[in-house]
Amino acid sequence: MITSIVAQIDHLHDTYCRDCPVKQALREERGKKGAHDFCIHTCSVGKKIQQLGGHLTKS
Ligand code: SF4
Repeated sequence: MITSIVAQIDHLHDTYCRDCPVKQALREERGKKGAHDFCIHTCSVGKKIQQLGGHLTKS
């Protein structure tokens, strides 16, 4: 269960976040915190990663 959640998070991160141009642009415009806020509150990928991470802390 935990392994599969970690694998899903890794997959999302490797597929969408690693070279994300949006994050790069936001870091330049709003700084690291601004980019992070966008990732966790606005981007559907970031929200999914947050949601999966929440399962890890509960298990
Ligand atoms: S969460 Fe969304 S905006 Fe943030 S790095 Fe990943 S894909 Fe890009």
